[in-house]
Amino acid sequence: MYRLSLISFLFISFVNSNELTFNEVIEKDDKSVEISFLLEKVSLVKSYSLNNPSRLVLDVYDTKLKEDINISYNYPIKKIRSISEGDTSRIVIDLYENIFWEKPTQVQTKNGVMLTLVTKRIKNLENSIRDIVIAIDAGHGGKYPGAVGPNNILEKDVTLLIAKELERTLRDTSGYYPVMIRSNDETIDLNSRYQEARKKGADAFISIHADGFRLESVKGASVFIWSDEASSTVARNLSEKQRKRIQADIKNLKDDDFNEDRARNNYPEMYKNKIDQSQILGTKILEQLKRDPYTKIHKQNVEYADFRVLKSVDIPSVLVESGFITNPEDAARLKGKAGRRMIARSIFLGIHNYFKQEPISNTTIEMNPDMVLYEIQKGDVLSEISIRFGVTVDSIIKLNNLNGQPIFPGQILKINI
Ligand SMILES: [Zn+2]
Repeated sequence: MYRLSLISFLFISFVNSNELTFNEVIEKDDKSVEISFLLEKVSLVKSYSLNNPSRLVLDVYDTKLKEDINISYNYPIKKIRSISEGDTSRIVIDLYENIFWEKPTQVQTKNGVMLTLVTKRIKNLENSIRDIVIAIDAGHGGKYPGAVGPNNILEKDVTLLIAKELERTLRDTSGYYPVMIRSNDETIDLNSRYQEARKKGADAFISIHADGFRLESVKGASVFIWSDEASSTVARNLSEKQRKRIQADIKNLKDDDFNEDRARNNYPEMYKNKIDQSQILGTKILEQLKRDPYTKIHKQNVEYADFRVLKSVDIPSVLVESGFITNPEDAARLKGKAGRRMIARSIFLGIHNYFKQEPISNTTIEMNPDMVLYEIQKGDVLSEISIRFGVTVDSIIKLNNLNGQPIFPGQILKINI
């Protein structure tokens, strides 16, 4: 649990200039093309596709173009060009045909921050489409075990296992692309967690935890979103040791890191929208947790708290406390695969219902909101798949005309959710 975090008036000074330059175009193979740019530091980037004529647009906030970009290229890319709009540099990629594209990523290189966009040719697309990127943050890890439950069950282990379960469902389901903030037992500071989500172009950020409390009797799951108000109350009540750790954490922001604190001041509308969206996302996840017969609920409404990892200016961010591992019942539930799977399922269905209600244009989910395609993995059985998606085995059999036929790895199942 990271309830004690940000002191929002502590800013570090950053160099204001952030120059954007074109880097290169690489044809990976006949289907995939990588277009890259260089920045001085990690930036706020909005990307989307438009139709008639077909094109991709990247708005890179608070940057200056070193020089105008105007490059003609080979099929399927017609042209890469730029437009300066105040402090925003707009990059337009004109296309000959609709393509599949990936959210641009930002990676630190020796030449600066490389902003890369990957496009892939897929025949006969009605629009240029992309997957929804979900950042999964397994709480704690490495030298920070988090809460400790009976028989030395550690929060950091439980959170990683739930995260992996969620990753698996998202990975094997059409329209989603999961990004793990940590994939093993490693120490990652709080700044790096939300910075990583930005660098990977996340559309939503889910932090997974399992609470601890001095009273063994306290149990159940809760869902949190960030609040400034909770933040200032917590900040006032910090101990000296906690205050020092937070200050050290803020100092750890590297020069190329994106300053979310400043962005929240500069873009209050964007931030307000993010809070509203986080509230909807959190509510959708909580609704699913309430449907799960094994999971008790600790707080009936989405709670506000100062969890530093949720502080992004624009990425809807939610923290799920999957239970209290200091409570024997919750600990037993979270220790078992079945219990963890139910938490992962609630989070997945919550995410899916959120993107059904608040669609991102030109994504698979927007075009086909009621049905997902799931790729069967080795070892899968129908009963397990049905639990994973919260549907009945019968509904899967009917929808896919499976009467008596065995399923096999690589097979694509339609699932109505
Ligand atoms: Zn925790």
